[in-house]
Amino acid sequence: MLALVGVFGLVIGSFLNVVIARLPEHRSLWRPRSACPMCGAAIAWHDNIPVLSYVALRGHCRACSAAIPWRYPVVEAATALLFGAAYERFGPTANFVVAAVLLAALIVITAIDLRFQIIPDAITLPGIVVGFVANLATLRVSWVDSAIGIVVGGGIFWAILEGSLLLTGREGMGGGDVKLGAMLGAFLGWKVALLSIFLAVLLGGVVALVLLGSRATGRKDPIPFGPFLAAGGAAGLFCGERLVTWYMSAFAG
Ligand SMILES: [Zn+2]
Repeated sequence: MLALVGVFGLVIGSFLNVVIARLPEHRSLWRPRSACPMCGAAIAWHDNIPVLSYVALRGHCRACSAAIPWRYPVVEAATALLFGAAYERFGPTANFVVAAVLLAALIVITAIDLRFQIIPDAITLPGIVVGFVANLATLRVSWVDSAIGIVVGGGIFWAILEGSLLLTGREGMGGGDVKLGAMLGAFLGWKVALLSIFLAVLLGGVVALVLLGSRATGRKDPIPFGPFLAAGGAAGLFCGERLVTWYMSAFAG
């Protein structure tokens, strides 16, 4: 069963690659069929098999030898691994389906934010609704918890955005982070969403220090926060409840 979930993850990952490539350019996700962006040659089904085709083609287009971005196999493999982990965590339940939807959204957001420094509204706005409705259906998170999550998760980044505008005249956060924070709140509930945001800030801080220390980026280069928020959200999805329970019993009990 786990192998089947993995294969399902590879196929969905392949579709997520289409979303990542086309959504920022406002192109249709369904038409036309995949083609090489360099030479325009249509990609045959046997050259479109997740991960395997990339390896078989050694990362180059069969027709023109243009390099295929490594993003493609990485997104496919990551989707398969995360879906597998979600199946291990939630089993054959509706909660697994909801987790897979959230993880797919987080993968797309990460890849697009890394490429374009944009968190697409086309993912986060429907994501807020889907997260809230999914919790209404599965009751994994109560609707009150989810609703507060939307307000708190979005509100934190909105406050940072407005605050830094007021103090420095510049946006310290993008509006995309506000909507992604709200989406995490909708899916995870406010307690786990807060934990996810905390983990994201922690991880973002460590990575920023490493990048600055290694001089890979300058102080002025923007580091997109979306990928960290996505990673924090995934961590919250998998072990947020356990951590919150532990925290409550350790400090509030
Ligand atoms: Zn080509």
